[in-house]
Amino acid sequence: MRKKLIIILVSFLFIFFAVLCSIKLYRVYRCNQCGILLAFDDYDAYNWEDHFDFFDKYGIKVTFFVNASEPTDFCYKAIERGHEIAFHTIGHVRLTEVSEEEVYAQAIAPIETFRQKGIELTTFAYPYGSYTEELNDLLLQHYKVVRGAYYYRLTSKETMRHGFVEAYPIDNGYFDTQEDYERVITDILENLHANKAGVACVYSHAISPGGEWCVSEEKLEFLITKAKELGLEFYTFKELQNN
Ligand SMILES: [Zn+2]
Repeated sequence: MRKKLIIILVSFLFIFFAVLCSIKLYRVYRCNQCGILLAFDDYDAYNWEDHFDFFDKYGIKVTFFVNASEPTDFCYKAIERGHEIAFHTIGHVRLTEVSEEEVYAQAIAPIETFRQKGIELTTFAYPYGSYTEELNDLLLQHYKVVRGAYYYRLTSKETMRHGFVEAYPIDNGYFDTQEDYERVITDILENLHANKAGVACVYSHAISPGGEWCVSEEKLEFLITKAKELGLEFYTFKELQNN
């Protein structure tokens, strides 16, 4: 009887520590995992909403950087589907060319308007990717992350909690052929894959096969499938800020 009890106790302790160990290993794995932030800029509500099912099909969440003076129906629907609503000024204004009052009106005051209507804006993308260090200092007092628009930069998850991050444009107009696009994206994803706890942002505008400032579904499908093949995760900005 006593022997039986000891065996049960030892088995219980073994299982208990094995579970603890697995949880710890899983946390380290999640922490070191690399990933992609996929974003869409400006405001193409109908087009974006038409693609909610497309994102669901691949199980990914994205970030929409909207131009709007207040939350729209689209904003609430996107959040309900697990995506992030981030900000891009009210009127797509180049912030480096306007007064401080206008910067406040276009990029800072709307935070409170959105908050009062239930949406917390914590990420901002500069229209035209135009910024200065002074603008970064000012906006980072109000946003957790501010985003550029021109380069691929491998960023640590740590930096994604607070600071300036770059983003790489994947609009159709930047690539002559699908093959060119696939080569560039493969390089980016393999570079990410070779790192620990690294993330990078890529962005476009609407989703359409034509149009210079759009990205085709075919291009998105390549990015998503290749990223998944390499074990990369898709994140929203907010997810990493709260990480
Ligand atoms: Zn824009």
